[in-house]
Amino acid sequence: MKISSPRGTSDIYGEDIDYRNFIINTARKIFEIFNYSEIITPAFEYTQVFSRSIGEGTDIVQKEMYTFMDRKGRSLTLRPEGTASIVRAVIENKMYSENMLLKLFYIGNMFRYERPQKGRMREFWQLGIESIGTDNPVIDAEVIWILNSFFIKLGFKNLILLVNSMGCSRCREKFLAEFKKYIKPELGKLCNDCQNRFEKNPLRVFDCKKNSCKSILASSPEVSSYLCSGCKRNFKEVLECLKILKIKYRIDKNLVRGFDYYTKTIFEIISEDLQSAQNALGGGGRYDNLISQLGGPEIPAIGFAVGIDRTMMLMKQLNLKFKKLTRKTRVYLITMNKNCQIYSLDILKYLREMEVTCDINFSNKNLKKEIKWARDNNYNFIIIIGEDEINSGSLTIKDIKKFKQYKVDWKNQKDKIMEIIGANYYD
Ligand code: AMP
Repeated sequence: MKISSPRGTSDIYGEDIDYRNFIINTARKIFEIFNYSEIITPAFEYTQVFSRSIGEGTDIVQKEMYTFMDRKGRSLTLRPEGTASIVRAVIENKMYSENMLLKLFYIGNMFRYERPQKGRMREFWQLGIESIGTDNPVIDAEVIWILNSFFIKLGFKNLILLVNSMGCSRCREKFLAEFKKYIKPELGKLCNDCQNRFEKNPLRVFDCKKNSCKSILASSPEVSSYLCSGCKRNFKEVLECLKILKIKYRIDKNLVRGFDYYTKTIFEIISEDLQSAQNALGGGGRYDNLISQLGGPEIPAIGFAVGIDRTMMLMKQLNLKFKKLTRKTRVYLITMNKNCQIYSLDILKYLREMEVTCDINFSNKNLKKEIKWARDNNYNFIIIIGEDEINSGSLTIKDIKKFKQYKVDWKNQKDKIMEIIGANYYD
């Protein structure tokens, strides 16, 4: 019986690995420039880490978590996102301290039981940052700046940055009262999911992707109209900083992100080139109450998460090019029989000790085919080893890019090889 991978998961290999490495390396470089350090948390946590932070009424907690009992009857959940686990880790390891900004980044796989479609999977990868310790709006701008720089460095040109403010808990209370008044008479027109959402957690109606629900929300009161003076000032300062940094943004008054923990500044980066409902590449926001909600001190924080798979998908769709870091010198040894292969081990050992990327044919096919394969696979030198070479103790090195050929006395002048194949640095 053929066994396939579970629905909504994928194997990543070949060219996709190059894209992925480029995306991750670009992120690492930017995070380092902005002074973030890496954190790795477990892929599963006690379920309450997520239910208490993301919110009981959210789709994620209601329908999308991979939750299971372990052998001792404890409820565990595969992480559906990164922030809650990081906050748990920060509290548990007492990583915070007063007056110090804790800047962390992560790269990891996430799990959500969603209906798989293009750009939406059940296991997917995210990279993100969390900046923990201040509610200074300059940091909000810095976090958005990092997100923006990251996508620019990947080569994207037409992404749209949406920003909004959800206000603090007091602003939200006022807004919710008005929002409930507005929705109540329209309730029958909302989808079943939204009707349930409205009962449990009315703000989550904004997460609905159905056009019928979206059109009802189009003329609803807007959260940003209910901001208190502090939250208004705060948002204004964030926007001022973005202007100074020359970061283009669009205020989206209906932007209300899918987790309960968000407060004040929220943002999303979307692409109109992603023509499905899944047009967000990343997003984030401030979560000033989450740390205390999970048992830590009152520490404000802000962060974002980017979907690596979706970013990769769009890079491929837009044909964005990047330079792959490959070793300049790649040597392929072609042996004519088993005896030659064993003789070649000594040459391979020498080359690998010299940190030269090299490999050997393991089955003895036709020489022409082997040379073509080496050329197709980016080798620039080949060394052919047959009985003649063994008997004479010499080697023939072919430069297959420049069509040159060299003879080396392998027994007495090993170092000559390095002279011919040249320095072994990255392109
Ligand atoms: P979220 O944690 O929901 O704010 O998502 C942040 C980013 O992760 C999104 O903008 C997507 O790029 C990515 N993402 C979220 N859910 C999925 C999924 N099911 N499959 C693939 N990527 C996802």
